[in-house]
Amino acid sequence: MENIKQKLIAFSKKIGIDILGFADKSRFREVEAKYNPFSIFPEGNTVILLGKRICRGTLRGIEEGTNFSDYQFFTRHGLEDHFLTTDCYDLTRILEDDGWEAVPIFPNPTEVFAQGVSVSEDRPAPNVHPDFNYAAVATGVGEISWSGMVFTPEFGSRQRFHMIITDALIEPSPILEDKICDECGKCADACPLGAISKTEYETVEICGKKMKVARIDYSLCAKCKNGAVPNRFITSGKPDRIAALCNRTCLQHLEKESLVKNIFENQFRQSKEWALDINGNYKKNAGEDDVINL
Ligand code: SF4
Ligand code: SF4
Repeated sequence: MENIKQKLIAFSKKIGIDILGFADKSRFREVEAKYNPFSIFPEGNTVILLGKRICRGTLRGIEEGTNFSDYQFFTRHGLEDHFLTTDCYDLTRILEDDGWEAVPIFPNPTEVFAQGVSVSEDRPAPNVHPDFNYAAVATGVGEISWSGMVFTPEFGSRQRFHMIITDALIEPSPILEDKICDECGKCADACPLGAISKTEYETVEICGKKMKVARIDYSLCAKCKNGAVPNRFITSGKPDRIAALCNRTCLQHLEKESLVKNIFENQFRQSKEWALDINGNYKKNAGEDDVINL
């Protein structure tokens, strides 16, 4: 007879979930209450992280500098609000059919719906929203890169996640041992605003996995006109940098060096990259290593 983990894996494959990882409660022991999934469901035992890829083609219009809106429609609103929401809901149904409570969690930044007043002295204020970067490492699906983003072995930075907290006891996935980001510094070289340091970093440790994360000036990223998208929930939040020049340059590098598994027939970068300075003026970019000669 199938156990619940086998059922979840089989169903996820069937409905097209690209990434699935499991972490037990002990992996969140050190996490502050306001970012801890088990503040939401203290009787829970397992965190499940499910992810779907950001299609490489949704970055094409931004790479060419000719279409910025399709990325947002498909990979922000479509992926997070519809495709993943439906899959997350369907997985909770599998758990409920087996008799387990399953709490679906949307990837909001904590600040968005904060009410600031605890309902009792021993509880964090609503709304607790779990740290998805932490959860990605804790569930074994990925790492945090030099550029401060979640990378998975399949897609690098090209995915988004939803989460489920359940009281089912599920065997945790192993923490990812392999490195994806090779600390090449091309993201820093490519940034026209100098927002990513090439030398200064902090070592982030999650569940025993140590990762170097660069010092990043997010106030510059908030003004970036090279494909960065403002945080859609809160204007003061970190912008979405997946389509920004730093990360598109990284994407080209990861594929070219076979550091990710999802490799394409034709390379991503097809022509000289464009770059704008902080005022939106044309700027020659320093990172030319991956530019092909046409
Ligand atoms: S460009 Fe290089 S250093 Fe930067 S995130 Fe990608 S792999 Fe890591
Ligand atoms: S989002 Fe823009 S400013 Fe920030 S690191 Fe990337 S290219 Fe630089």
